[in-house]
Amino acid sequence: MGFLTFKGGVHPPGIKELTQEKAITKLPSPKLAVIPLSQHLGAPAKPLVEPKNPVKIGTKIGELQGRISANIHSSISGIVKSIEPRFHPAGFTALSVIIESDGEGEWEPQEEQDIDSLASKESEIIERVKEAGIVGLGGAAFPTHVKLAPPQDKPVDLVILNGCECEPYLTSDYRLMLEHPREILLGGKLIMRALNATKGYIAVEDNKPQAIEKLTALAQEFGFEVSVVQTKYPQGGEKQLIYAISNREVPAGGLPFDVGACVQNVGTALAIYETCKFRKPLVERVVTVTGDIREPQNLLVRIGTPFKELIEFCGGYIGEPEKIIMGGPMMGIAQPDDNVPVVKATSGILVQSKMSLPLDEPCIRCGSCIDACPMGLLPAKIGDYITAKKFDLAKEFGLLDCIECGSCAWTCPSRRNLVHLFKYGKLMTTNN
Ligand code: SF4
Ligand code: SF4
Repeated sequence: MGFLTFKGGVHPPGIKELTQEKAITKLPSPKLAVIPLSQHLGAPAKPLVEPKNPVKIGTKIGELQGRISANIHSSISGIVKSIEPRFHPAGFTALSVIIESDGEGEWEPQEEQDIDSLASKESEIIERVKEAGIVGLGGAAFPTHVKLAPPQDKPVDLVILNGCECEPYLTSDYRLMLEHPREILLGGKLIMRALNATKGYIAVEDNKPQAIEKLTALAQEFGFEVSVVQTKYPQGGEKQLIYAISNREVPAGGLPFDVGACVQNVGTALAIYETCKFRKPLVERVVTVTGDIREPQNLLVRIGTPFKELIEFCGGYIGEPEKIIMGGPMMGIAQPDDNVPVVKATSGILVQSKMSLPLDEPCIRCGSCIDACPMGLLPAKIGDYITAKKFDLAKEFGLLDCIECGSCAWTCPSRRNLVHLFKYGKLMTTNN
């Protein structure tokens, strides 16, 4: 049987066997948490605390500013030590709240709610999600409350829970689907209610039969259908998933609500359930720690924990680390060292000790990148324009539609560093 899919894409090796059988383990809280006030797309949050203020787990320490922004909460109990700029794993410097633990682990009060009583209260679901600082946990970190409140003239009828996790190495979403399928589907039901959507799908790649089986047993009870999609990269891209499941094509420069769709990562759905049920803010997430380390694992980690504490918990490095990446090898971001903190977008930490760097040899005009591009772009041409600093032409050829999936670079026999070029080109285009 041919499973649902999209045009283009590539088939990099999954390398998920390192962690896919590893149940989620809780990492002890850090003694010092570094919590950036910008962990989402949009405006940074405004600090609500000052040095020497006491905080509990879940205390709001940053208030969202403007429409596209998100609240930030303390992930440990203790005392605010300072508020200062710190390096952010997304590659910039961000104002961050540094909190020293008091070892008490005290939470702000949480109250259990009856989920069904929220059934007719769309605005309350959205308000809780907004208050909890929930963002897309697949890596994009777009504020979820904004996605749940599309413009009035763009009604959403289709909700897709994204369980594809197509990035090689990463298995945190897979473990969540195996260990918390009911909570994910309950979160999905709340998303459908918030949007008044009528069709709900949970998309899983065909290489995850155990997750498909678990979800299929429960999906109907919550108004969802399991959609088995082809194992192909980047199957988990929003636009690719919407096309695979509904044949709806998000227009160039458009957003999913332009075609009546909303895609939410399965981890985000779980976070939505937890905040609606317990008023739990987003203070922790599951991170796959993998690659050249002694005991690769899936860890439940408090936001603000330094990468090195995760790596030490997993037995440390094998050999000298050559590259530490936040995320996976296709879309991940290389880090300067292991002192950076886990943020809401940290789906994984990948350590590579002998990763050969891109050769970046001249283009041989083979056309492989064109076949691979899921956005139907001409990556070689756009790359040439950026190299020649012809940014307007790169833009004309769709630079801003590039989702930076890395499929073109992965397939390129010259191993051109295309994604690096596109990131640079976008920076130059948006700054000018
Ligand atoms: S051009 Fe952009 S969207 Fe197309 S394959 Fe390359 S990185 Fe992906
Ligand atoms: S895959 Fe690489 S070598 Fe082939 S056309 Fe694209 S950029 Fe050029």
